[in-house]
Amino acid sequence: MSRSLSPDLRRALAARLRYYNELGIYDFYRREAGPSAGAGLSVSLPRKAFVEPEPREDMAPRRNAVAVPAAREESMFEPLTPRPETSVHDPVKALQLIREDLGDCTRCRLAQQGRKQIVFGTGNPKADLMFIGEAPGADEDQQGEPFVGRAGQLLTNMIKAMGLEREQVYIANIIKCRPPNNRTPERDECETCSSFLMRQIAVVQPKVIVALGAVAARTLLAINASMSNLRGRWYEFCPVGARSNHPDWVSAKLAVTYHPAFLLRDPRQKKEAWKDLQMVMKELGLPGQS
Ligand code: URA
Repeated sequence: MSRSLSPDLRRALAARLRYYNELGIYDFYRREAGPSAGAGLSVSLPRKAFVEPEPREDMAPRRNAVAVPAAREESMFEPLTPRPETSVHDPVKALQLIREDLGDCTRCRLAQQGRKQIVFGTGNPKADLMFIGEAPGADEDQQGEPFVGRAGQLLTNMIKAMGLEREQVYIANIIKCRPPNNRTPERDECETCSSFLMRQIAVVQPKVIVALGAVAARTLLAINASMSNLRGRWYEFCPVGARSNHPDWVSAKLAVTYHPAFLLRDPRQKKEAWKDLQMVMKELGLPGQS
């Protein structure tokens, strides 16, 4: 192993790694040396889908990994702390540690744009089923809990129709702060915030994730496809950048359905959403699916 890094480069690299930690990104891997990849260090950004639909023209290229300067010395990692939750086996405590790490977050502009509070996520910390929406709205911002407004009531009814109680599932959003005037979250806001969501997923270790709406689906799957292309199939979802500390859990199955707010605007689509939920029920072995 080479010992040739200059002190300046070592300092710069340590500072870069601390910066990634600040963003909530902790897991780094060393790229295998090979004909097509030089030895180096890569940072995995928190999203990855193994199964992707046909590429479409409207799919914007997404960054999947950020390369940082080659690092060859183990001591480089000494200043780094591991993700705090990885050493904890109680998921309640682990989620608390992620919440503490998030703190009074100012990592993106939404902190200065009128959010009342951070909406972290709620529900069963060992849930088999996790719902992920887009962003808190006014009610969620007020109450500090995801999906408590009108769309939330519909989501609760959808969960009940599956034969479950809201408390049995885990509910979160791609971003944790309300965007001004409920505008669609910007990509950089989604990218900054979702590393914490990835860590929550790695702690909860759900069997199935349901992405509610296009923003959630596109962010989680890193593809820019239409809802009709995204729905009706399973994706293998691995929260890259946030490995679980359980050897048996590597990934969840992910399905996409309509956002409840969209279903409120266009109730005729409810029967389509019900088909998606039946697919999920079948996967989880819940009674009642056709
Ligand atoms: N819409 C969302 O996407 N999330 C919420 O928490 C509420 C409304």
